[in-house]
Amino acid sequence: MHAAGVPFSEICRRLRLSRNTIACWLYKRRTAASKTDTRYPRCDHPRRKIDDARSYAYLLGQYLGDGHLLTTQRVPLLTVTCDVRHPGLIHEISHAMEACGARTVGYQERVGCMCVRAHWKHWPCLIPQHGPGVKHRRKIQLTDWQQEVVHGEPERFLRGLFHSDGSRFTNRVLRNGKHYAYPRYTFVNESTDIMLLCRSSLDQLGIAWRMARSNTLSVARREAVARLDRFIGPKW
Ligand SMILES: [Zn+2]
Repeated sequence: MHAAGVPFSEICRRLRLSRNTIACWLYKRRTAASKTDTRYPRCDHPRRKIDDARSYAYLLGQYLGDGHLLTTQRVPLLTVTCDVRHPGLIHEISHAMEACGARTVGYQERVGCMCVRAHWKHWPCLIPQHGPGVKHRRKIQLTDWQQEVVHGEPERFLRGLFHSDGSRFTNRVLRNGKHYAYPRYTFVNESTDIMLLCRSSLDQLGIAWRMARSNTLSVARREAVARLDRFIGPKW
């Protein structure tokens, strides 16, 4: 349409997309594609950039769930989106970003959700999983040093994953006139790679899980739920 001379506003209207999106496609695509990976020199030892492994493990879990790393701006921008109904999570994410080394954390409110965001030049070094497109359409593989951190802090990593794409809810059952309540956890993610990471951290801790559907992991056994309650619990 652009080549055929259709006015900019008309293109947006016909495609029902934002002006910003169309502008990116028309004017920024080439620069974005060519600059994404070469623009920011990666640190040789990114692990050393991390002051706080516990916060990093949590933030990585959050990133794999609801995070996005934008590398087309002057300074890379990490954004984690969370529900405004959980102010505790907003606090925890911003604390984790700062603890990892980001200077200033900002907030941007959207309908029903809050974007927690921080500019930092080292984000691409710390989160090399970033790339174009949605996470479940690309390979998500942790580097050796990331695996080490996750292996050292499986509880914090799982907390990040469950705080983003997981939930804790209570199944209520009426049996023989008595009410029973069974709390359980689910984790929903379309990426089989991310699901594998979740499963292997649960396995490491000996916590029983099963797949309820191909994209849904469920933790329902009483002792397994009790274990998760010790380091995850309801979203706050
Ligand atoms: Zn770096």
